[in-house]
Amino acid sequence: MSDQPHDHPPLAEAPPDCPHCQKPLPLCICDSVTPLESRLGLLILQHPQEQDRALGTARLAAQHFKTAVVRVGLSWPSLAKALGRAVADPARWAILYLGSAKAADLDPDSEVLALTRKGEVAENQRAILKSIDGVILLDGTWSQAKALWWRNPWMLKCQRVILGPRRPSRYGHLRREPRRDGLSTIEAAGLLMAALERRPEIAAALDASFERMLARYQEVEKEHPELTPRPKPRGKPDRRGRKRRV
Ligand SMILES: [Zn+2]
Repeated sequence: MSDQPHDHPPLAEAPPDCPHCQKPLPLCICDSVTPLESRLGLLILQHPQEQDRALGTARLAAQHFKTAVVRVGLSWPSLAKALGRAVADPARWAILYLGSAKAADLDPDSEVLALTRKGEVAENQRAILKSIDGVILLDGTWSQAKALWWRNPWMLKCQRVILGPRRPSRYGHLRREPRRDGLSTIEAAGLLMAALERRPEIAAALDASFERMLARYQEVEKEHPELTPRPKPRGKPDRRGRKRRV
């Protein structure tokens, strides 16, 4: 590891953002994404304070599906309103549950597990998961996701599911703040949509895009670190030994 400062001068002007993923253009990989047909809907609700444009994945995940919807906000009166549709039955939409239940403890063989409102493993997993029309993901930190959960009472009517991913998140050390299930939004979307549609190629496509996004991030970070801010613990010296000014 080199301790030398970067030789590259900072960009004179901030580059424009991609209108699709909203990342600064050097970080955008949108042109490599081909939208997939999917039986299930995907709704991603993003907390307004989720500001991680460089490493965020909600909009990139949504671009993989022709009918995916991303909304930024704190509350919506109903699932239908959030989706922008006339009707939608929340009981037929799966939401990633924020409670402490771990799939590995309940059923180590399942990548997706439906829970009852009491947080117990539901009977008839197969029938429940087959009846699902769409998937809802809350995009943000743990506390932001919890705020979304409590401000949208219709979420209580949704089918709760938890994930038992076979491998840890590809974020690795890039993101320090733990997400509720340890996965990025794009990884969670891939795992859920692939499991519910029984099409592993969906997860493969989203995971591959995520890896391209992370590789691009690491390339850009070397030349233009100002475009790739990384959250660091407060008050600790940075890698050049200086105290960080926040
Ligand atoms: Zn883009």
